[in-house]
Amino acid sequence: MGTAVGLKPLPFLIAGEWIQDTPSHITHINPATGEVNYEVCAATEGHIDAAVHAAQKAASNPGWRNMLPHERARLLNRIADLMIERSDLLARCQMLENGKVWKECKNQVANGAATFRFCAAAIETLGSEITPPRGNYLSMTVYEPWGVVAAITPWNSPITLTCNKIAAALAAGNGIVLKPASFTPTCGIELGRIALDAGVPPGILNVVPGSGSKIGDALVNHPLVRMVSFTGGTEVGRRISEFAGKKIIPAVLELGGKSPHIIFADANLKAAADAATVAIFEGTGQSCTAGSRLFVERKVYDQVISMIIERAKSLRVDLPDAPGAQLGPSASFSQREFIEKMVNGARNEGAEILIGGQRPADARLAKGAFYLPTIVAGIRNTSSIAQQEIFGPVLCAMPFDNEDDLIQQANDVSYGLASGIWTADYKRAWRVARALEAGMVWINTYKQFSTAAPFGGFKDSGLGREKGLQGIRTYQQVKTMFWSMSDTFDGGFSIAK
Ligand code: NAP
Repeated sequence: MGTAVGLKPLPFLIAGEWIQDTPSHITHINPATGEVNYEVCAATEGHIDAAVHAAQKAASNPGWRNMLPHERARLLNRIADLMIERSDLLARCQMLENGKVWKECKNQVANGAATFRFCAAAIETLGSEITPPRGNYLSMTVYEPWGVVAAITPWNSPITLTCNKIAAALAAGNGIVLKPASFTPTCGIELGRIALDAGVPPGILNVVPGSGSKIGDALVNHPLVRMVSFTGGTEVGRRISEFAGKKIIPAVLELGGKSPHIIFADANLKAAADAATVAIFEGTGQSCTAGSRLFVERKVYDQVISMIIERAKSLRVDLPDAPGAQLGPSASFSQREFIEKMVNGARNEGAEILIGGQRPADARLAKGAFYLPTIVAGIRNTSSIAQQEIFGPVLCAMPFDNEDDLIQQANDVSYGLASGIWTADYKRAWRVARALEAGMVWINTYKQFSTAAPFGGFKDSGLGREKGLQGIRTYQQVKTMFWSMSDTFDGGFSIAK
């Protein structure tokens, strides 16, 4: 993996122009090697203001605002085509920046392109609605864009998560100011380039990398921003939601998780152990839906944990571009430090580390932010390692005795993003699935995703939904029209309806 030290800092995009002359830069460190990847120009509050104004101007242009659905769909499909054409470049941006393995990065590009195609098809077919009249009129519901959407994304899956936001927001007719995470600025920048090359009018998609703590407030609080779409941690999400509340604008919040993955004794234990391994270790555990709290019915607990340990041992931790690599490094050195702190804290409190709990011994990986797949046992669900999101390859394993005990423990957490249930008893699956406080329930499977299915969390895991048809409606506001069919005025309170 090469680096680009000495090259000019990479520019960002406002109003179709590439901005290169900035007072500060983001220095990007490759988490797999510790080397500098490149520098990226960092936006200031002034750039945020310019980007929001550009988005507002472009979004209110009738050429964009009144674009016919099939024309908008053509643009979205063109973006998907360009994503596939530039798939290696996009995948490489992500791999260099967050250390995810090559295969996962390539799959994210394919899925991102599929999201654009889904939104293209949806916007061509999603209609306005005629609602039942209660008088001599036609009543209709139509959907309007919000105007300027601030889209703020995290570092763990920048391609997927950016596409979820911008495909739907563009389909819905908005202008966008995208602020990518500082650890992963270039995927958003390259997607901005693709949108421009596809023919999206300049100013409709602006990309402004920069430190969230410095420019985030200016973006969210900008008076012309009419909606915020945020994916990231709960703490920042709460702050954004407070600002949005004060402004009375909607905020879609896709936040953290600490998802229960549940295995009953009657389940297909082999498949469940396979899934439990992937559910936590894929992506080096840096997934909001990671099955990080494993609950296994006590009578099969030892058997299942042994199976998962065997599988975890066989996982290949390696440089992200090594053929066959399954786990890359953590996305940053600070992230690995946090993982180590959490695991060491649990160890000091008496937890058993069944596997991992340390950096790999392989000298080739010594300069990267690598950490071995880790299973922590002998803990209670109330312990901090079981309650706090770690966002690393760390599985908390706990036994349960019966269904009531299980549901109580599974729901005893501030988050409510995802969950998984393994059982052969379909009635129990139904009961438990309905009782779980989670936006997603996988039954006898885990981590199935569809661009056609809504995604989002309960409780501290967020508010609102992205993806699916609901995900497009998220980026639109509702307008109701009453259209008189009478020659005289017959409205008002004096008429009973
Ligand atoms: P984060 O620290 O909350 O940052 C997310 C984004 O917010 C980054 O672009 C960050 O910029 C920006 N930001 C920081 N402070 C801000 C502020 N005051 N105002 C506006 N923006 C601000 O989260 P992360 O560490 O990047 O990502 C990990 C988290 O994302 C985990 O909790 C994970 O569960 C969650 N996540 C959720 C989902 C989901 O769909 N539910 C999906 C993926 C990840 P900087 O990078 O410059 O700090």
